[in-house]
Amino acid sequence: MSTHVSAVHKFGGTSLAGVPEFRRVGAILAGLETNPAVAVVSAPAGVTDALHALVQAAEQRDDWPVALASIMARCAGLATALLSGERQAECLAALERDRTDLHDVLKATALIGRAPPEVYALVAGHGELWSARLLAATLAEQGVEADWFDARDALTVVDSELGPTVSWEPTRARFDAAWTPPPAVRVVTGYIARDPHGAPTTLGRNGSDFTASIFAALVDAEEVVIWTDVDGVMSGDPRRIPDVAVIPELSWHEAMELAYFGAKVLHPRTMAPLVAREIPVWIRNTAHPDGLGTRIGEVGEDGGVKGVTTIEGMALLNLEGAGLIGVPGTASRLFESLRGAGISVVLISQGSSEHSICCAVPQADALRARAAVAQAFAAEMRAGQVEGVELVHDCSILAVVGEGMRGLPGVAAKLFGALGRTGVNVRAIAQGASERNISAVIPSDDADRALRAVHAAFYLSPQAVSIGVVGPGGVGAHLLDQLAGEIPRLAAESRLDLRVRAIAASRRMVLAPRAVALDSWREALAGGVETELDAFTRHVQAEHLPHAVIIDCSGHAAVAARYADWLARGIHIITPSKLAASGPLADWRRLQEVRRAAGVRYLGETTVGAGLPIIQTLRDLRQTGDEIIAIEGILSGTLAFLFNGYDGSRPFSAIVREANELGFTEPDPRDDLSGRDVARKLVILAREMGLEIGLEQVEVESLVPAELRDVSIEDFLSRLAEWDDRMLARLEAARARGRVLRHVARLDGATGRASVGLEEFPADHAFAHARLTDNIIQFVTRRYRDNPLVVQGPGAGPAVTAAGVFADLLRLSSYLGADV
Ligand code: ADP
Ligand code: ASP
Ligand code: MG
Repeated sequence: MSTHVSAVHKFGGTSLAGVPEFRRVGAILAGLETNPAVAVVSAPAGVTDALHALVQAAEQRDDWPVALASIMARCAGLATALLSGERQAECLAALERDRTDLHDVLKATALIGRAPPEVYALVAGHGELWSARLLAATLAEQGVEADWFDARDALTVVDSELGPTVSWEPTRARFDAAWTPPPAVRVVTGYIARDPHGAPTTLGRNGSDFTASIFAALVDAEEVVIWTDVDGVMSGDPRRIPDVAVIPELSWHEAMELAYFGAKVLHPRTMAPLVAREIPVWIRNTAHPDGLGTRIGEVGEDGGVKGVTTIEGMALLNLEGAGLIGVPGTASRLFESLRGAGISVVLISQGSSEHSICCAVPQADALRARAAVAQAFAAEMRAGQVEGVELVHDCSILAVVGEGMRGLPGVAAKLFGALGRTGVNVRAIAQGASERNISAVIPSDDADRALRAVHAAFYLSPQAVSIGVVGPGGVGAHLLDQLAGEIPRLAAESRLDLRVRAIAASRRMVLAPRAVALDSWREALAGGVETELDAFTRHVQAEHLPHAVIIDCSGHAAVAARYADWLARGIHIITPSKLAASGPLADWRRLQEVRRAAGVRYLGETTVGAGLPIIQTLRDLRQTGDEIIAIEGILSGTLAFLFNGYDGSRPFSAIVREANELGFTEPDPRDDLSGRDVARKLVILAREMGLEIGLEQVEVESLVPAELRDVSIEDFLSRLAEWDDRMLARLEAARARGRVLRHVARLDGATGRASVGLEEFPADHAFAHARLTDNIIQFVTRRYRDNPLVVQGPGAGPAVTAAGVFADLLRLSSYLGADV
């Protein structure tokens, strides 16, 4: 007798949810190219849950007859819609017989008030019987030669610690006795089986996948196709991680680990019967039968991490004590005690000092687990050798899985780096000896964020960053316009998902659930709500996005006053504003402490020299071990413009007025001429070098005459002419010596002495050649002593400053793990 079958197809509950779904499955089976085939079916979606609830209702003497009637009505509805004539009548009659049986069992249950596992298995298994009967009849209705088979007539399973396990010998014998040569399609009930005494049992929730693989082994199928409601095994749970991708290929072991660690798409034991027989499995979508899906089988060892998943509802149990060090058998006693209590251990982690052992157990069993372990170690606890058994509730286990992780350095670093940067506290770690997975125990509240951050870190999905922009004026507006143009490219080329989700001006703000459409951000802002920075902050720091950054382009002290709070919450900050970084030293120190404690970034490259890479250069020099001897340069684009253009042919005051009209000065040009702005930049550079100085320590030569300090801007501009002669005399004196006047900032690396003022330079000096609003800065260092390192270029203007802020944002993204 031939038992050979070309393929075993399995259809999950969602694929058999209602009339159209049954028809679709019928069409897939009718269109198969190779016959005969086996179709293993689950109960229609939700029916298993409903049957479980039914037994519970009977145990509690709730209104189970109504619940039973509604389940039966749903099935009868399917039969009426899918079948006609004789077939329909037969099916309805069979359903009526089942209804009577179930009624009797439930009535008995209600009388006793308690149902043994066999009753649960018997009742809950009816969904699969109904599916099988209905599908076989539907196929016959469509003219396909089909029958159905009750898997309980073949499958014998025993309960083991690992879950239901097939007893192959009786199964094979019973299968051979019951199996007849199949028609084109034989429909087989998933999920249900018998125990060695012949009582009904199940393969556990999601067990139909397992049924399919057991039958594939029994009929020696060439392949197994698991049809479900997603396009294949995804790199993460699609309900929890946006932008997951189908994994084209997985090894049996990878699939096993993913399933074990919670990927619901497959029952974890499905693969076992297939590995030895080398039967490949396909996961495909009933709704897209043309899609390629995922192939699970023999694969090469490339590809690194394939997927990320979590097991929820765990607790961590920790046994700790100096008395455990070097004592043989501690671990086995611990696990023996848990085994005795019938508690399954999902993850084990032991420090090499053996000072503590911890393991993850289901949250529901946590208290029983603690009691069992405490009893097993009662003597040690009394003797003080064991400190106690500690429980951490509400944990999740996050696992990254991939065969290619083996021998691939840096996987753990990437995993824990990603968790750290998104602020998730890891409580325990375990790596399977196979190196096919690394798992981390984390607080359940953080699980979604952790999943997304880790998924993105391995480039399985784009790195998402939630962005809030404060102050969409000059620099802010340019930044938003620049982002509008670049975001699509960054998403495509670097898998970086920059989402400007909030924009706040002084009066109005806009908060967008996903992202503000940047090609029309002005309109969105105009239609926004009244600005409220607390709400803005909460919105930017969305729970579902792993990283948040606020870009402050406002230049307002009231906004800068929020930095400490933002950093403490784990929000990164990018700003071109000098207020905080050059503010009172004590405040700045505190900000740094908060920043360090929260493990976040504060980026202000544009506070000095706009878009020029000045702070970054300084950092690189210092971090590579160079020693800064001195920094000197022209740090104000405005003052550069004034003195580059001042040759005596026109009065100095006229050039100031022109610069003011061209928008090259602050609204009040005295802010530039006083040298205070440059002094702030010097303070920022000094602090970047580790020199803790304050603004009051910078010696500043102000170009604002004392008499004009407090007059109106207009008065200042007109009266400045009274000082033109004095400035001209200075210029001519320098000229007589073959020199030019430049406004320069200096910082001595050794002493921290800082000064800002007007100086003379020889005509061939680099500072004499700067153009227009150029900034120029020289780093004199141990390595660059005789020939200093010079950074020069436009150091002012909203467009270049915005570009510098953008560069900071990319620098942050790269630190967060994006490939930019
Ligand atoms: P079926 O009824 O076909 O057995 P299930 O609901 O049991 O379907 O499993 C499919 C579901 O598993 C998908 O709809 C998806 O929401 C979920 N799922 C969880 N993790 C993954 C993953 N890594 N890949 C694909 N699906 C997953
Ligand atoms: N119907 C069962 C369940 O819901 C088995 C399965 O669908 O695989 O768990
Ligand atoms: Mg399933």
